[in-house]
Amino acid sequence: MKSRNLIIIVLVILAIAPQVLPTFQITLLNYIGLYALVVLGLVLLTGVGGMTSFGQAAFVGLGAYSSAYLTTTEQLPSWLAWSAGSPWVGLLIGLLLTAAVALFLGALTLKLSGHYLPLGTIAWGISLYYLFGTMSSMGGYTGISGLPSLSLFGVLLDKGEKIYYLIWAILMVAVWITSNLLNSREGRAIRALKGGQLMAESMGVNTFRSKMVIFLISALFAAISGWLYAHTQRFVNPTPFGLSMGIDYLFMALVGGVGSVWGALLGAGILTMLKQWLQDWLPLVMGGNGQYEAIVLGLLIIFMMQRSPGGIWPLLVKLAPASWRNQNHIKITSSAAELPRRDLPQKGKLILEACNVTRRFGGLVANNQMNLKLHAGEVLALIGPNGAGKSTMFNQLSAVDTPSDGEILFLNQSLKGKSSRQVAHMGMSRTFQHVKLLATMTVLENVALGAHLRGNKGIISSALHIEREEEQRLLQEAQYQLERVGLGEHLYTEAGSLSLGQQRILEIARALCADPCVLLLDEPAAGLRHKEKQALAELLKKLRQEGLAILLVEHDMDFVMNLADRIVVMEFGEKIAEGLPEEVQSNPAVLEAYLGGAE
Ligand code: ADP
Ligand code: MG
Repeated sequence: MKSRNLIIIVLVILAIAPQVLPTFQITLLNYIGLYALVVLGLVLLTGVGGMTSFGQAAFVGLGAYSSAYLTTTEQLPSWLAWSAGSPWVGLLIGLLLTAAVALFLGALTLKLSGHYLPLGTIAWGISLYYLFGTMSSMGGYTGISGLPSLSLFGVLLDKGEKIYYLIWAILMVAVWITSNLLNSREGRAIRALKGGQLMAESMGVNTFRSKMVIFLISALFAAISGWLYAHTQRFVNPTPFGLSMGIDYLFMALVGGVGSVWGALLGAGILTMLKQWLQDWLPLVMGGNGQYEAIVLGLLIIFMMQRSPGGIWPLLVKLAPASWRNQNHIKITSSAAELPRRDLPQKGKLILEACNVTRRFGGLVANNQMNLKLHAGEVLALIGPNGAGKSTMFNQLSAVDTPSDGEILFLNQSLKGKSSRQVAHMGMSRTFQHVKLLATMTVLENVALGAHLRGNKGIISSALHIEREEEQRLLQEAQYQLERVGLGEHLYTEAGSLSLGQQRILEIARALCADPCVLLLDEPAAGLRHKEKQALAELLKKLRQEGLAILLVEHDMDFVMNLADRIVVMEFGEKIAEGLPEEVQSNPAVLEAYLGGAE
């Protein structure tokens, strides 16, 4: 059975559920739908983007209160009078307000790292809660009652079994949008946030923008849920929008499986049902009416996190047959036109130049007055014992680090003040000494991330899945580069299951996908077997032939000697020799550095 058929079956069950279930169960399903919409945003934000938020409930509150205020206030201020108490205008204004607040809070908090971001979300979660409670026009802690029911196409959704359809339809659309988004160029950029922003930026991804996008989407999902909630309950007060609910949402995401769209539904379902059962049964078992369910729930969650830290959805996926699991990988389906290619500079043209570069770390001089030049169509190797300052040089050349003194020129432009993202757009591409890839994404998707800067379809076309043509072109480019480096058989393998050597080669394919004019490779041969090294050398020779400028930092002397046109040798942050391989090999200073040094 295809997963599409499974989805159809689920939809049919959802459609007939209100016809056969008692009212109470429908009410539960409505809650599950409302919660799942918020949790879906958390899957994007926390599960995929790696940003933990305790503050989603506040956005739910914004959506709920906006509409509650607009639809119940007798004398609206004149600039809002046109809304005429319509809940749909309430939704629109709630979304606009939420977007504005999210953009503001995002700008303040998303640059925070580590624990500061979750703490920041707690801070605004609490502030908004008290704001709702203390504003007298919002009914204070008593809240606002008498909200109208929604009506759609003339049908009044005043009963649980009626609004059920609206809630679940909106949820399904949100699921569809989220899955589309995740399986797109923008989605790869979003998923790359967790794999290291340094890597994503050097693939040309604007990581701050990607964070902002998912923050905004998750806030909007929450606001829609709040709006639906307000008009289902027809009453709002601050309690369901406080920090404690914010924590519950996060729990739902963790229990269901924070890494997948369906985990959101599962988590909302499980936690809602569980809470209900515990509330019903615990008083019978424990006697009295203490709130034991929070304790029992807490313990259950701890137990579950021990057993399956990824949540329950991944467990279910593991039980499914392999043929099902692989269906969800994005595939190359049609043959699209090739992406345009950059005209490479003429062979021998100066591409990258370091002029008297000095880099100090406190009192330590890691690079001292370094000069080097890299031309189109040549392989330059930077070698030297451990601690010589090669990586420091490499980072400055790739705009990850800035020289304390001196200057780097790339295509005659100074790199001063340029980000690695801008440099990537100019045609510089790199690999990492410690491989940086997204282990659970396929090889093809990882490599397609390299082509990020060659596409331009944005969030909306991705969410609506109308970027197929461009997407196919990007994937095809990734396939071409993978075949070129000899990984053509592994397109749909998970990147994490490749050998270390293959992962390094994958990084080269990813770098090539950006269509660069200069390639910077940090120890590309480390961990490769002899055969793989030979194949890599052949590939690099071919790329040099095509006119690429290649700089490699390398330890493996045999590899370097057979490949490099010129070699620069460093020791203690300084250049001690430069020249053809055979010259460098017999240079007494180099022999001294290598034989006397740590190597
Ligand atoms: P290599 O790559 O040749 O092994 P590095 O460039 O990594 O050498 O390091 C050169 C020197 O600079 C080392 O002594 C290292 O400890 C120091 N160094 C590198 N990066 C930093 C940093 N961010 N802060 C302080 N010292 C650093
Ligand atoms: Mg190094």
